[in-house]
Amino acid sequence: MGNRYINRALVILQKFLKENAVKDKILAKETTMRVGGPAAIFAIANSFEHLRIVLHTARDWDLPLFIIGKGSNLLVSDSGFSGIVLRLGGDFMLKRIKSTKVQAGAGISLSSLVQDTSKHSLCGLSFAIGIPGSLGGALVMNAGAYGECIGDLVKNVIVCTRDCEFKVLERDQLNFEYRNGNFDKDDIIVEATLVLSINDTYIIKRQMEEYFAKRRDSQPLQFPNAGSVFKNPQGIPAGKLIEDAGCKGMRIGGAEVSAKHANFIVNHGDATAADVYALLRSVQQRVLDHHGIVLEPEIKFLGEFNEVMIIPGKS
Ligand SMILES: Cc1cc2nc3c(=O)[nH]c(=O)nc-3n(C[C@H](O)[C@H](O)[C@H](O)COP(=O)(O)OP(=O)(O)OC[C@H]3O[C@@H](n4cnc5c(N)ncnc54)[C@H](O)[C@@H]3O)c2cc1C
Repeated sequence: MGNRYINRALVILQKFLKENAVKDKILAKETTMRVGGPAAIFAIANSFEHLRIVLHTARDWDLPLFIIGKGSNLLVSDSGFSGIVLRLGGDFMLKRIKSTKVQAGAGISLSSLVQDTSKHSLCGLSFAIGIPGSLGGALVMNAGAYGECIGDLVKNVIVCTRDCEFKVLERDQLNFEYRNGNFDKDDIIVEATLVLSINDTYIIKRQMEEYFAKRRDSQPLQFPNAGSVFKNPQGIPAGKLIEDAGCKGMRIGGAEVSAKHANFIVNHGDATAADVYALLRSVQQRVLDHHGIVLEPEIKFLGEFNEVMIIPGKS
C-alpha cells in the first residue's frame, strides 16, 4: 500500500476531523505498556458523522483500520501499523443513567462508569475498579475480575459495521465468554446499555476500596504494563503456571516478568515491543515445556512481529 494513499486519505480526514486526524502518531503513548511504533494515520471520531467519514475513507483507499480503546490490553509492534488507528471520543463518551439502566458510549472510560454509577447507588461494576480500559474494549474482552464480568451486566450493544450500518445486538444475540465478547471482528462497538442493581452507596464504596486494595497489593502498578498477558487455562491461574515454571524475574531488554505478579510483563522504561513479544514467547515455551500447557495470550497484538506466538486452536 503506497504512501500516496495514506496522504490522500489524510487530506480527506483532516478536512472533516481537523486536528483529530494526524500522520505517523507514535502509539507507545496511547497504550499502557508504553511501547509501539507509529500509526500511519491516527484519527479520533467525536461524532457519528466523523465515524462515517473515517469508515468510508478507509474503504475508499483500501486502508486497514484498527479500533483502539485505551490501549490497556494491547501490544503494538515497533514498526507500528500502516493503516488508520481509530479512537472514539466526544459523543461516544456520553452516558445516561435512568433508574438501574446505564446507557453509555463505547469510548467512555470504565473508571468513570464505576465512579458515577456508585454515586447513583448502583452496584455491579465495582469489580472493574482499576481496570484502565474503555467500555468498548471491556466489551470486546469481556473484562472481568473477582468472578464477575461486564458481559453479565449487558442489556444490549450497538455496533457499527464497516459499511456504516448500525445494529442493536440484544442480550440473547450476544455470546460472552471468558475474556471474549465474541463480536464480529470488523464490528465497531459504539454504545451499550448495562443493567445494574441498587445497593447502599456506603456498601458499594467499601467493596470498591476492597477490590482496589487487592489490586494494589498484587499488581505491579508502578510500571507500565498491559494487565494479565495470558488467559487462565481451564480456570488454573496463568500466573501460578508461569511462576512454577520458573519465569518470575525473566528479562529481555527492558521487559521483565513481574516479580510481584507473574502474569504481568512490566516495562522498565526502555523496553521495545520486540522485547515484550520475545519475553511472552519465551514464557509460553517454558510453561509448555514445564507443564505441557499452551498459554493463550490475553493481550491483543497490532502490527508485525518477527517471532510467532502459538495461539491454541489455530495452526
Ligand atoms: C493494570 C491493568 C489491570 C488490568 N486488569 C484487568 C482485569 O482485572 N480484568 C480484565 O479483564 N482486564 C484487565 N486489564 C486489561 C484491560 O484493561 C481490559 O482488557 C480492557 O477492557 C481493555 O480495554 P481498552 O479500551 O484498553 O481496549 P484496547 O486495549 O484499546 O483494545 C483491546 C481490544 O478491543 C478492541 N476494541 C477496543 N474498543 C473497541 C470498540 N469500540 N469497538 C470494537 N473493538 C474495540 C481493540 O481493537 C482490541 O482488539 C488490565 C490492564 C491493566 C493495564
